[in-house]
Amino acid sequence: MYSGTMTPYDASALRSTAAKPPLVDGFGRVVTYLRVSVTDRCDLRCVYCMSEHMVFLPKAEVLTLEELDRLASTFVGLGVRKLRLTGGEPLVRRGFMILVEKLSRHLDTGALDELTLTTNGTQLDRYAADLARLGVRRINVSLDTLNPDLFAHITRGGDLARVLAGIEAARAAGLAVKINTVALKTDNAGEIPALISWAHGLGMDMTLIETMPMGEIDEDRTDQFLSLAEVRRDLESYWTLTDLPLTTGGPARYVRIAETGGRLGLITPLSHNFCEGCNRVRLTCTGVLHSCLGRDDANDLRAVLRGGADEVGLEAAIRTAIDAKPKGHDFHIEPGAAPALARHMSTTGG
Ligand code: SAM
Ligand code: SF4
Repeated sequence: MYSGTMTPYDASALRSTAAKPPLVDGFGRVVTYLRVSVTDRCDLRCVYCMSEHMVFLPKAEVLTLEELDRLASTFVGLGVRKLRLTGGEPLVRRGFMILVEKLSRHLDTGALDELTLTTNGTQLDRYAADLARLGVRRINVSLDTLNPDLFAHITRGGDLARVLAGIEAARAAGLAVKINTVALKTDNAGEIPALISWAHGLGMDMTLIETMPMGEIDEDRTDQFLSLAEVRRDLESYWTLTDLPLTTGGPARYVRIAETGGRLGLITPLSHNFCEGCNRVRLTCTGVLHSCLGRDDANDLRAVLRGGADEVGLEAAIRTAIDAKPKGHDFHIEPGAAPALARHMSTTGG
């Protein structure tokens, strides 16, 4: 259980901001989705995400719970309808449930359609019921294998049983769970059909993700990169895949698999075909706003916040950042090359 220490919410402040013009970028895209990384820390060390001996940020650099709430709430006041909390591992951030409780007020007022999180699931069995009580309806759980030894290898020491217990607890609490799986050429390529069958058999959606060139890790990413076009061809050799029209404004394309009856998302971040519909921006745990996952554009909102800006100043800084959202991203993977982006996914929030 957790106890709240943050200041009470001022409902009138939110109401007064509700009618503000939406966040529209220089290309006419309306930003309605914010992902917030609440910590760069994690209890796992997935091989594609972190190096074995990650150096985490000093506490003073990371936004406080109050700062996270203020920033996220300002975005909600400017028309953001969906908030995803991520990390690092959000559930290892001390006081995380206090933040969820604070942010859930925007669900109560109707300002927010969805409050959700992406988690590795290791702590979920403790928090699932509270998440459901606070209005979280769906969560993404990252899981790359059902083999305990391979899981320990990919996460560098993780316990698969903890994650499976977490998923069970989430389902028991009534949360819809989507499984996120990074497609890894050397590790889980052969297991992907079994993972899909497992997830769909339990009524869970699943999304496959191509590795993205973010942050220095210990291995050569090109060794791990597995094209989802290749995975799709393989799946189509024994299953019937039908494209679904659903578009979320993100890099996922969805198919229905007739034989499993489930939905599969395919995230191919290296392709450019989703940028024109992009509706999302990301806030790092240090308060840097990245208006494009695939570029090094950055706006330091922590400096604005800690510089004493009032709401008007903060909103102006956010609008300036959104206005400059790049048209598209710039990923590339070349053998032996430095990552296209120096920052890690764990800082940016996946
Ligand atoms: N710790 C939580 C988790 O694992 O779900 C949330 C943060 S994690 C950075 C968010 C997602 O990013 C996970 O699904 C993870 O598999 C994915 N991810 C991390 N590094 C990646 C990379 N280099 N390429 C593609 N996906 C990555
Ligand atoms: Fe941690 Fe998630 Fe990165 Fe794995 S992918 S190391 S669980 S932040």
